[in-house]
Amino acid sequence: MPTRPCRVEIDLSALAHNLRLLQRAAGDATLAAIVKGNAYGHSLELCAPAAVNAGAQWLAVTSTDEALSAVCACSLLQDQPRILVLSGPFPGDGEAVAKHGFTCSVWQRDQLEELARGALAAGCASALVHVEIDTGMSRQGIAPGDLPAFLETLRAFPSLRLDGVMTHLYAADETDRAATEMQLARLAESLHAICGFVSSTGTAQPKWLSVGNSAALLDASVRERLAAMAAENKLRLLLRPGIALYGVAPEFDTSPSASIAAISGQLRPVLRWTTRITGLRWIESGAAVGYNASFRATHSMRLALIAVGYADGLARRLSNVGHALVAGQIAPYAGRISMDQAVLDVTEIPAESLVPGEEVVLLGSQGQSSVTAQDHARWAGTIPWEVFTSISSRVLRIAKS
Ligand SMILES: *Cc1c(COP(=O)(O)O)cnc(C)c1O
Repeated sequence: MPTRPCRVEIDLSALAHNLRLLQRAAGDATLAAIVKGNAYGHSLELCAPAAVNAGAQWLAVTSTDEALSAVCACSLLQDQPRILVLSGPFPGDGEAVAKHGFTCSVWQRDQLEELARGALAAGCASALVHVEIDTGMSRQGIAPGDLPAFLETLRAFPSLRLDGVMTHLYAADETDRAATEMQLARLAESLHAICGFVSSTGTAQPKWLSVGNSAALLDASVRERLAAMAAENKLRLLLRPGIALYGVAPEFDTSPSASIAAISGQLRPVLRWTTRITGLRWIESGAAVGYNASFRATHSMRLALIAVGYADGLARRLSNVGHALVAGQIAPYAGRISMDQAVLDVTEIPAESLVPGEEVVLLGSQGQSSVTAQDHARWAGTIPWEVFTSISSRVLRIAKS
């Protein structure tokens, strides 16, 4: 075990609680727990099996590489999850996809070719795919107008089976529903085209309608629309929460409805990021702190040196902005965040807590106080997703006991 004291503690019971809470909100819909990006920096190895044990039937990752890590992480479980590969197969992925029965989203002919080649190489009769519709995000997916031709192309690969239809909502956290309404209209039109194609060609009916992130799941008006759309098309709804699983509600642009607030309020943070005080000193008024003296003591001050820096993923934008916690109290960052170290102003903190080895909370709670991913995001001008995924691989992730 590394001795440098910068680590992340993962509360798997909080993850399980969040998953069950979201499942209750989702009603009959099935959840795909999003564990891409090393489970949003929370450790795929810890979180993937915990999500499955808490009832997730699907895990979603970005790539086949991540899917293989998820298989490894879940190898001892009795119930094996289905694994959805969100960014489609990359060249060379086909055989592993077929061998492990991963489900890939697809929207290009080269992806179909890769999967068909892989199924053949692996000796598998069929590989399941989710066709992704670009309903307006212009990132990945097939344009609704190109769908009939794509379905014809898909039919030319007898080893590939259309298992689901997928899209991604890009503005589910906006109270103005215009963008989402447009996306839903395009989705409805695409589903109509798929149903027509299925009945006219006698191909197998897909099973899943896969839509929606945490914001869409939390918002009953969107969730119910999706459920109705799935029912009309005899599909089962697959919702794909990510950030909410980790205890962070997406921030809506205006104050959220009572039902969103009620669920959001019950989410529990999963990650706690701590380090320790490694040294303490008093400095005189006027003394410089850190690179380029971006901070100067305005009076006699006490500083704590802590073992964390931007190489651990602590945003350099936190230089002279924001704070950590020591003994449950606020300790502001003083001076530039260095690569491996940072300095806190602990002048106001009772001396008995100021000893080398004292715990410092960077993210999470301590006593009655807490620092959230939203706080870091605000200080650093980013979003909680980036705060979490920036915590580097140098930081050991351990399950909270
Ligand atoms: C990451 C991702 C999600 C989850 O989004 P959150 O906002 O974190 O809930 C859902 N669907 C797709 C396709 C994604 O890439």
